[in-house]
Amino acid sequence: MIDFSLSKAQQAARDYAHQVALEEMRPLSLECDRTEEIPESFFWNMQRRYWGGAAAQARAYGQDEGVKQENLLSVISQEEMAWGDAALATAIPGPGLAAPPILSQGTPEQQARFLSIYMDGQLHWGALALTEPGIGSDVAGMSTTAVLDGDEWVINGHKHYITNGARADLIVTFATIDKRLGREGIRPFVVPKGTPGLIVGRIEKKMGLRASQTAELIFDNCRIPKENLLAGRGEKKEGFKAAMGTLDATRPMVGAMAVGIARAAYEAACEWLREELPAGYPPHKRRAWEEELKELGQEIEMARFLVWRAAWMADRRIPNSKEASMSKAYAGALVMKATATAVRITAPGEESERKLLIQKWFRDAKVFDIFEGTAQIQRLVIARRLFPNIDIP
Ligand SMILES: Cc1cc2nc3c(=O)[nH]c(=O)nc-3n(C[C@H](O)[C@H](O)[C@H](O)COP(=O)(O)OP(=O)(O)OC[C@H]3O[C@@H](n4cnc5c(N)ncnc54)[C@H](O)[C@@H]3O)c2cc1C
Repeated sequence: MIDFSLSKAQQAARDYAHQVALEEMRPLSLECDRTEEIPESFFWNMQRRYWGGAAAQARAYGQDEGVKQENLLSVISQEEMAWGDAALATAIPGPGLAAPPILSQGTPEQQARFLSIYMDGQLHWGALALTEPGIGSDVAGMSTTAVLDGDEWVINGHKHYITNGARADLIVTFATIDKRLGREGIRPFVVPKGTPGLIVGRIEKKMGLRASQTAELIFDNCRIPKENLLAGRGEKKEGFKAAMGTLDATRPMVGAMAVGIARAAYEAACEWLREELPAGYPPHKRRAWEEELKELGQEIEMARFLVWRAAWMADRRIPNSKEASMSKAYAGALVMKATATAVRITAPGEESERKLLIQKWFRDAKVFDIFEGTAQIQRLVIARRLFPNIDIP
């Protein structure tokens, strides 16, 4: 049975994450958005406070009734981090999106080899490079190739929109070992930073999440050891399953971030109504806004429960593709609605820091409808699982 009440330990982990978000992220938010840069001190503070505090706490409390709670704890903390600042949340040092494929597809030896660097107390990042120009939603059609040459894989191809791509110490990338095999030819590879042939291209200028680094990566005869392949060569569909399995784990986290921004916008709009609404504003308009915000509050709770359900299932190794997509699709649409509502309601009166933050969240919200699968793709995943007998292309 699903119990949606948080244990004392989970509440403590959430409160700690909230405090870190309030103290380390909110004060930097507008400046980092303006400059598209993050001060080095932020990374060290997060290394110390997040990994030394919140994540360590999560690890300590991560066992309940014999079930690891890593996914649930992660979404609880991601909501708080995104409430603080979603762009900064994506830049917290750690393996990030590289972790799920390494954990699900790596051997114990590979997991130890690749993930141990993240435990040395220094600044390290990871990245996941799946998307190619023109091949975002249709992962199976990717054109990056990997050819075995003696003891090395030679990777050639072009990836773009890769979060933390330029600063990542390890990049998990996907490439096909044989295009004729379609999705069955796709495999995950670990490419360390500095490998000859790994070229960092353009860093994107974006409307939202401006301080989050989004990089282009080019693999030009990039040679990596044979042992950096995460799935066995003969295992059909394993690589594609790894790519999809990664999304089942990361979509609830993206959903949680969307809930965090939606909540930030909702709270700020409520505070603005209480504290900044110009005197003499027509009471019937104020009442209408209060009604609207009340409904938004309910929808934010609904989104959170969808996210928690998907994470709860992932912790128990229950297949959760449908639920992960539902949480991402619902939260991704809600964050756009919540931030747009907050911008509209707080329009009257003077400019203020609160309003600037709301406008930033409005810009940040859009990408939650795009990355880790667009809203249209989530609907396809959900429809295929709801109607398995109907052929949905
Ligand atoms: C800020 C940011 C960070 C990102 N970080 C990463 C990262 O770290 N790693 C990574 O690998 N990728 C990353 N991405 C890429 C992201 O996952 C892709 O942009 C996304 O999957 C969409 O792919 P696309 O841009 O190629 O759009 P396309 O796949 O070309 O889609 C274009 C439009 O067509 C629609 N569409 C496509 N196929 C269908 C269909 N079958 N039915 C109905 N509609 C369809 C889509 O919904 C969309 O509206 C990031 C993107 C952004 C913007």
